[in-house]
Amino acid sequence: AVSFFWFRRDLRLEDNIGLYHALQSEYPVIPLFIFDEAILDSLPKDDARVTFIHESLTQINTQLHEFKSSLLIKKGKTQQVWKDLLDEFDVKEVFFNKDYEPFAIQRDEAICQLLERNQSISYSFKDQVLFEEKEITKADGLPYTVYTPYKNKWLEKFHAISPIREYDAGDLFLNFYRSKFPFPILEEIGFVESAIKVKPYTFETLSNYQDTRDFPAVDSTSYLSPHLRFGTVSIRKMIRFAAKTNAVFLSELIWREFFMQILYHFPKVVTQNFKSAYDGIQWRNNEEDFKRWCTGTTGYPMVDAGMRQLNETGYMHNRVRMVVASFLCKHLLIQWQWGEAYFAEKLLDYDLSANVGNWQWAAGTGCDAAPYFRVFNPEIQQQKFDENGIYVRIWIPEFDLGYGEPMVDHAFARDRAIATYKAGIVK
Ligand code: FAD
Repeated sequence: AVSFFWFRRDLRLEDNIGLYHALQSEYPVIPLFIFDEAILDSLPKDDARVTFIHESLTQINTQLHEFKSSLLIKKGKTQQVWKDLLDEFDVKEVFFNKDYEPFAIQRDEAICQLLERNQSISYSFKDQVLFEEKEITKADGLPYTVYTPYKNKWLEKFHAISPIREYDAGDLFLNFYRSKFPFPILEEIGFVESAIKVKPYTFETLSNYQDTRDFPAVDSTSYLSPHLRFGTVSIRKMIRFAAKTNAVFLSELIWREFFMQILYHFPKVVTQNFKSAYDGIQWRNNEEDFKRWCTGTTGYPMVDAGMRQLNETGYMHNRVRMVVASFLCKHLLIQWQWGEAYFAEKLLDYDLSANVGNWQWAAGTGCDAAPYFRVFNPEIQQQKFDENGIYVRIWIPEFDLGYGEPMVDHAFARDRAIATYKAGIVK
């Protein structure tokens, strides 16, 4: 008889709540990861995120070897993989950490039903966030849809709880299953190593975060996003650090939880406007324009630098994400879903809740969004946040040779956007 710990968006041994509980099981624990074929099949064969997951699993596996254990890695349709595991093993218990995306919720419900039919017990835990969707609500129990009161409540609750407990799985390793499973190399999963790499996160640059975070040429953000996406770091550890060092940085981590609870309570936001009053906007959705945006050839240096950074590295600075997103929705009048999908394909830190939340914010269609009549001027954004052109020169080598004409005049595009929004919004 065995128990399983199922790794998903929590690719670490340290401070992993589900794993901590699994290792207290009376049965030996098999650590498991499943490469879901349905997701893999939709990705390019050198997808950098698959490389990152594989690297993270390799690291976990090396750590597990010290305890004479190793990861069991399966590839297939998740449901089928579990059916096979139930045939192969006498599975008494399955432990995993909760995932709040609509697709994941459905998948987990189906797997739990399967386990129940097999008389295996499943246990799920909160690990991905400090406060999950029902923990921070208004007095009437309804979810917050505006960030600032959400953040205030979050902080109130945070300061009211005792120091966050550290779960150290280290003491409990002996309960791991003591057999060695073959560890697949990347090619066996059907992928090749990507040239694009996830940057290691850093806190060294955060001392002036509040003053420097908006300047893309200054290397002053944490690069935590892919690590939080895949759980290679513990959110509790990061929040503890942020609470001690920098309130603005902490508030960014609260944005992450804000959008996660929005997605949980309003799953329609994945494809539809949060504010349905915006459903009538007549988007231009011009394919040629979209192509120029994707390839970073709009003629606006800040927009083009951002898109080229994204295409080459899988990352884009937050300020520039805001500028390119606004440009797509407002200047080009292309619906946010197109930009969201392009980011989803390219971003190493792609996270459904943050991506959809921020795209809808930029488009003006989301909860607590920028007002529709506020249209970023990409030239002014560049003057403000990249005054000496250091950032744009990194990504646009031809910049000094006289950069091309903007594909659309700002004043014209601004007026067109405001008029189009005005005409489309249902009062
Ligand atoms: P830091 O400034 O060091 O921030 C620390 C952490 O706080 C981030 O790693 C992230 O987890 C969180 N955070 C910061 N800003 C936000 C925010 N606005 N919303 C939610 N969480 C935030 N972030 C993603 O993680 N995945 C996405 O798919 C994503 N898509 C975005 C799309 C658009 C159009 C925009 C404008 C922003 C998007 N963001 C997304 C938010 C933000 O740009 C990135 O989290 C940030 O740039 C990552 O770099 P960092 O870790 O160095 O950030």
